[in-house]
Amino acid sequence: MDYAATLLAKLPGASRRDHGLRRLIETLEAYLPEEQVESVMHAYEFGAAAHDGQKRKSGEPYISHPVAVAQELADMHLDSQAITAAILHDVVEDTEASLAQIEENFGPEVAGLVDGVSKLDQIQFRSRAEAQAESFRKMMLAMIEDIRVILVKLADRLHNMQTLDAMPADKKARIARETLDIYAPIANRLGINRFKVMLEDLGFRHLYPMRYRVLDRALRRSKGSQRQMVKKITEEFEATLAGENIGGDVIGREKHLYSVYRKMSEKKRLLSDVVDVYGFRIIVNDVNDCYKVLGLVHGLYKPMPGRFKDYVAIPRINGYQSLHTTLFGPKGQPLEVQIRTRDMDRVAESGVASHWQYKAEEKSDATPQRRARDWLANLAELQSSGTSEEFLESVKVDLFPDKIYVFTPKGDIMPLPKGATTVDFAYSVHTDIGNRCVAAKIDRGLVPLRTPLQNGQTVEIVTGRGARPNPNWLSFVRTAKARTAIRNHMKTMRSSESVDLGKRLLDRSLKDLDSSLRKIGKTRMSSALDELGLDNNEELFEQIGLGERLAPLTARFLVGVNEEGETEPSTASLVIAGTEGMVVSYARCCHPIPGDDVMGYLSSGRGIVIHRNNCGNLSNFRKQPEKWIAVSWEKDIDRDFNSQIQVETLNKPGVLAEVAATIGDGRSNIEQVSVLGRHEDCSVLAFMIQVRDRIHLAQIMRSVRNMPNVIRVTRDCA
Ligand code: MN
Repeated sequence: MDYAATLLAKLPGASRRDHGLRRLIETLEAYLPEEQVESVMHAYEFGAAAHDGQKRKSGEPYISHPVAVAQELADMHLDSQAITAAILHDVVEDTEASLAQIEENFGPEVAGLVDGVSKLDQIQFRSRAEAQAESFRKMMLAMIEDIRVILVKLADRLHNMQTLDAMPADKKARIARETLDIYAPIANRLGINRFKVMLEDLGFRHLYPMRYRVLDRALRRSKGSQRQMVKKITEEFEATLAGENIGGDVIGREKHLYSVYRKMSEKKRLLSDVVDVYGFRIIVNDVNDCYKVLGLVHGLYKPMPGRFKDYVAIPRINGYQSLHTTLFGPKGQPLEVQIRTRDMDRVAESGVASHWQYKAEEKSDATPQRRARDWLANLAELQSSGTSEEFLESVKVDLFPDKIYVFTPKGDIMPLPKGATTVDFAYSVHTDIGNRCVAAKIDRGLVPLRTPLQNGQTVEIVTGRGARPNPNWLSFVRTAKARTAIRNHMKTMRSSESVDLGKRLLDRSLKDLDSSLRKIGKTRMSSALDELGLDNNEELFEQIGLGERLAPLTARFLVGVNEEGETEPSTASLVIAGTEGMVVSYARCCHPIPGDDVMGYLSSGRGIVIHRNNCGNLSNFRKQPEKWIAVSWEKDIDRDFNSQIQVETLNKPGVLAEVAATIGDGRSNIEQVSVLGRHEDCSVLAFMIQVRDRIHLAQIMRSVRNMPNVIRVTRDCA
């Protein structure tokens, strides 16, 4: 019994219904060590058990699909981790088995690969626009940390395309379009020609079945008539190589259907022009032989002028190397000949994947990123001509991105820098959306605005009428656009708020002098503005609102009262509603709340700062009475204010949590807690809490005071 049969015999029932497993094992045992083949078998058992009872649309047992995906990768001689992940790639998405189980059985690397493939499956391509497709390809590449994830995904897509006939027509067209727009270009970009060619032909076949059939028939017909000629020329080439003692293979090249179609539709060529060309590939052992063979075939048939290309000395941008020449054949028909070494052929077919091909002598301690970098470095080395830096840059950006890609609710893709938050997203959609954003949803779940975004997420911004940007956002936004927009808005907001406040302050001071803005009149006002060097009323109000100019002095100046003349200090107070914005702030020394007796201090550039009457800082009042103004609270204020309480407790475990719970029960948020002192049997804690007013604060202090482990509660801290 051969080795594959021995392994198969270990599986109960599996040897009879093998689902492509035997062929896979035979492929693997040709290049992988025994224990690795056995571990792939273990993955098969695990996968077959997990998918047990599931069927493909074609009616076949589900496990035949992952085995076929693994076969594709085994044909490229990929390492056993990639093969194992291929077998398990649909397990997490489609069965009860968990990622943790995969990690336990097959290690973290395989689990990481399976997880990566599942994540790619979750993002859906929705739009057809060209630029959108490009962004989508970038997003897919940005999402993967290990290139092998995309290799499994491409193989998965390939097998799904091969079995697409079982799907309904509309689905077929969508999947085929997506394959041509997204997956084939990714395969091309990574230099994996074999995937690219198969994905394109299958995509073409399912998207344009009629055109495919016509072209396929024409190609078959011409191949039939060409067969004799191809055989004759192949033998001629072989004999010439043998005569010169050059080892090598000559292959009559098949036409790639989609490339024929594209040549016809893009270059407007006739079918016969594209088809009546004979293609040959000669694969030799080293670079010297390439040039020797070139000389030999040029001796056999006359080369067509201007058609020779040396991609060996100057490789193509994705690392492709080969000599290309076109000869006049026996009856004058063109013969296209490619000449390259085995290594070049391998790279031409597998591209980036050639770096994960299993090599027995190689230690596999290089990280996936390291290997992808190696591939790029190789490309860079090949690019001695320097014409392809642009390509290298774009691949590098794709594989090591500093960007993330997220969806708008409509399915448009938005690129953002890594670490960008929902607010950055809002501003990148539109400045207005950013300015009015109040909440954000990621994949339909509400999240805090500061949440950093991840690749592939769908982000939705909830806006509110009259909502404004919050200065705190500046601490977490990442994009210049968001930062500038928030700053600008702050500036204009602040200025309009100070204009409002300044006008109120001036009105009040004028009233003290039995005057008003109306009584003063336009003429006096404009001459006063001239004297002050200001352009308009708004500028004057703004300066007063910001505390840069004092309202009582300005009022006296406008009315024309002598500076020396004594007026009674103002008795009318300014009413504070708590909605003034940034020009009215609440002192951090005494934390005033509605119900407290308060005074306002005009602070230059900051507007009015509200203090409690019993605040120690009020002693300044005597020194600068003109800077203090009487204020009072509006009746119904609907917002919370910070307030500080000091709590002395017994040193019992859990007492801090109990106090916090009691405060929470009183419908107050705790902003901050700090321990002021800890003695042998008591602790002193300071809580910054949010309350509506004095009554609310008193209720909370009462319930805290009534707690068994609490000794004393006071407002403010010693
Ligand atoms: Mn699959």
